Parts: sequence; C-alpha cells; structure tokens
Amino acid sequence: MADKKRIVVIGAGISGLTTAYLLYKKGVEAVVLEKNEVVGGSIESISENGFLFDRGPNSALETTPVISYLVDELNLKEEFLYANKKGNKRYILRDNKLHALPMSPPAFFKTKLFSAKAKLRLFAEPFIGRSDNGYYQSIAEFVTCRLGEEFLDYAINPFVAGVYAGKPEELSVKSAFPKLYALEEKYGGLIVGTIRSIRERKRRAEVSKQSAKMISFKEGMQTLPFAITNALGQKVITSAEVKSIEKEETGYKVIFNFKGSLKSIKCDAVLSTIPSYAADNLFSKFDSGVKKHFDAIYYPPVLVYYLVYKRENIKQELDGFGFLIPSKEKKSFLGAIWSSVIFPGRTDDDKAAFTIFIGGARNPEFVNENREELLKRVRKEFEELMKINNDPIYSAERFWEKAIPQYNLGYIEHENYFDEFEKKNPGLFLSGNYRGGISVGDCIKNAEIVANKVFGKMNN
Ligand SMILES: Cc1cc2nc3c(=O)[nH]c(=O)nc-3n(C[C@H](O)[C@H](O)[C@H](O)COP(=O)(O)OP(=O)(O)OC[C@H]3O[C@@H](n4cnc5c(N)ncnc54)[C@H](O)[C@@H]3O)c2cc1C
Repeated sequence: MADKKRIVVIGAGISGLTTAYLLYKKGVEAVVLEKNEVVGGSIESISENGFLFDRGPNSALETTPVISYLVDELNLKEEFLYANKKGNKRYILRDNKLHALPMSPPAFFKTKLFSAKAKLRLFAEPFIGRSDNGYYQSIAEFVTCRLGEEFLDYAINPFVAGVYAGKPEELSVKSAFPKLYALEEKYGGLIVGTIRSIRERKRRAEVSKQSAKMISFKEGMQTLPFAITNALGQKVITSAEVKSIEKEETGYKVIFNFKGSLKSIKCDAVLSTIPSYAADNLFSKFDSGVKKHFDAIYYPPVLVYYLVYKRENIKQELDGFGFLIPSKEKKSFLGAIWSSVIFPGRTDDDKAAFTIFIGGARNPEFVNENREELLKRVRKEFEELMKINNDPIYSAERFWEKAIPQYNLGYIEHENYFDEFEKKNPGLFLSGNYRGGISVGDCIKNAEIVANKVFGKMNN
C-alpha cells in the first residue's frame, strides 16, 4: 500500500470524525488531529451522581442513512435510542402559559397559541407571490410577509432560538432554512409546497426533518464520537493542536503541538473541520482574502443549565420535549428540554432532569451579568412555569463562549469564497458546522458529501 493517500483531518468533532471514518472506509489513510484531550467537540456527555448531562446537543435527527450505517458499522445497536413518542409534543410559552404546538389542522384551529386573526391570515399565504433573493432576506421578513407577524413572534422566533440560538431578523432565510425557502422557490408558497413535497417525498420514500426520528444513545450523544475514535484507533491523535500548515513540493506538512512539543506530519491533503474563527489562523496565509470571511461568521455565547428535581415536587405534566420561549415573553432564558422525558435512563424514575438554554444571539449580553444572580433568576422563572415547589437536588452548567455559527444575511458571500478558496488551493478542504448545516444530522450528512468530494479530488 505504498501509494496509499494520506489526509490530515483537523478537529475531532462529529464532522471531522465522520468524514475521516468514511474516507478510511474508502482506503484513504485519514489522521485526525484534535486539540482537546477528549474527542466530540460540541458533543459532550457527562455522567455524575447517577445523572446523564448532555452539555451540547441532547439529541440528533435521523435525517441521513449515514447515521444507521455508522450505528451498524460501529456495533452501537445496543446503545442506540429512539426518543420516547412523548417527545413529539412541544410547548411554546404565551402569556406565561405553556401551549402545545398544534400538530394537525384541527389542533391548529383549536389552539390558543395563535389568535383567530393570525389563523385567518394563513389563508392569504397561497396568494402571496414569490419573494426576491432569499440570501439577503431574513427569516423574519420572509415569515412576516408570508404568514404574518404573530406567526413570526410565536412560532418562528422561538423555533429559531431552539435550533440556532439565533435571531430571526439576522438569519438569512435561504442559507439558514434552505428547505423552507425552497418551498416558495419551487412551488410558489409554503402551504402548497408543503402538501406537494410530502406527496413527492412519499413517492421517493425520503424522510423530512419534521418526520425524522430523534435519536441518542444510552450513555449520551458522545457515544458516537467515542465509537468512531475507537474504530480509527491510533489514527486519532488528541491533545494535538494544529499550529500551521505548509505547502510542500507535493502535498502539505501539518505542524502541531503535541503535549508541549512541536511535531509534523506530511500528507496529500488537509481537511479542516474546526470553527471558522479558529481556521482563520491556519488558512489566511494561503489567501489573505479568506480571513474576513472566516471572521464574519458570528458564534454567540450560550449557557447550558442542567437541573434535576424530585418528580413529586413538579406539578406541570411532563408529556413533551420541553418548551421554547418567544422573545416577546421577556424571560431570562430561551427554553428548556425535558431531558429525562425524552430518553430513558437519564435519571431514576422518581426524578426529572431539565436542560435550560440561556443567551444565544437573542441575549449575548448575559456574559456581563453576575452568573450566580442570573442563574437564580432563571431558576425562579423556570420553577414558576413548571409549578415546582422545592429546590433542585442537583445542578450543573456548561458555558459555550462561541456556541453555534449563525448563517446570517450575506452568508452566501462567505460560502462562495470558501468554494473559491478550495478551487485555488488544491488539496485544502474547509468543512465543519459553518458549512452545510449546524445540526448533528446535517454535519453527518455533509461529512458524506465532503468525503466523496475529497476522495474524488485525491484520486484525480
Ligand atoms: C450548546 C449546544 C447545543 C446544541 N444542541 C444541538 C441539538 O440538540 N441537536 C443538534 O443536532 N445539534 C445541536 N448543536 C449543534 C451541534 O452540536 C454542532 O453543530 C456539531 O456538533 C458541530 O460539530 P463539528 O464537528 O462541525 O464542530 P465542533 O464540534 O466544533 O468540532 C471542532 C473540533 O475542532 C477542534 N479544534 C479547534 N481548533 C483546533 C486546532 N487548531 N487543532 C486541532 N483541533 C482543533 C475542537 O477542539 C473541536 O473538537 C448544539 C450545539 C451547542 C454548542
């Protein structure tokens, strides 16, 4: 195998590990360099005092067959979990009350989440024509125009906080929600588009994000990065921070700090899956113009607050995924996942665990507040909404200084520049959650696309 091609993958988050694994299965030698001691990146699962706390993603949507491929390949069937059906029910806060998000036309007409006027407004949607370029149109503008302001405030605003920890006024509809925009682009409207695309998907037997199943693992989300790492063995090197990349006569040399000393590795190609703000240092020397694009992608801070209570002290019925809070409701947090309802084994049955999200692009200023006071206020608001009449028996936090990349207005210019960068610099590839989608499912789906692209180019 003297002519076996070698790629260095920078970053052992789910993007880097999945791509490396798929390339390894194609016969490429993929060496993964990760600066942290532990793999997983944004995926972190901690077991403490009998509680399982997912400090990043709590679940993923099974939107790609690559997930079940990995589960089979890595012998994870025993570990794999589908969410409890109760997890399909989601609540939105309005006027200090939790309203179930309507999931059927009769439930929609009955719900108090939207006023009669807002419901009637939906009938106008099929008659609103196509809008202009969605790359420069925010999801807020798009939804206000098509569905009205109340729908923006009480459906899209909390949804955007739940997915991106983002602000609808800033996210580009076409870059951040390409499938939603495609309904308008392809079919002329959301209602007609939804009906027709369901029919077409049924014919092609595809799964949509709305109907994709929610998954995790008995020991939490980090099971998947751990299992890929085990399969790749010594090809994943942790505590290895990449410091620079040098172009050689053929291929590249990657220089990294391994436990205090500088090492290097020669390779045919380099795939970066690190966040854009970190990629800036490594790649700007190949093209000074790329820096401004890496730096322009905003990652707001998020604080994850985990609380466990005795079940007997909670009066709110625990029959759903959790709730999201529209910004109009003026609370100190974005929403809460009812973690122990969704997947079994997160706590004993007589307890309930919750994961609360604070900050995001809606309120990045929380970082300047006194942390203790902020958490006290969040806890008070949460306990009132959940009708909890006693203190938590366990709590923990995880602060993400730069949590999730925002596909804001103008993002398309960054995306185009990254494409150009790859064309101008053969053998250098840019990936990770700032391209191709931020969800774990999208990162895995994109890993397959990237692995095929890289394999094709390396063997040209
Ligand atoms: C709080 C939070 C909640 C979330 N909730 C969900 C959810 O419920 N569902 C969902 O689908 N998604 C969720 N996401 C999004 C999802 O988890 C991430 O988008 C995804 O895991 C990112 O994977 P990645 O591999 O692209 O990047 P990352 O996970 O960021 O991995 C990049 C890796 O690169 C490493 N690195 C950086 N610089 C260097 C260097 N110089 N040398 C070597 N290594 C380096 C980092 O240490 C890191 O391990 C959430 C994210 C956060 C932060």
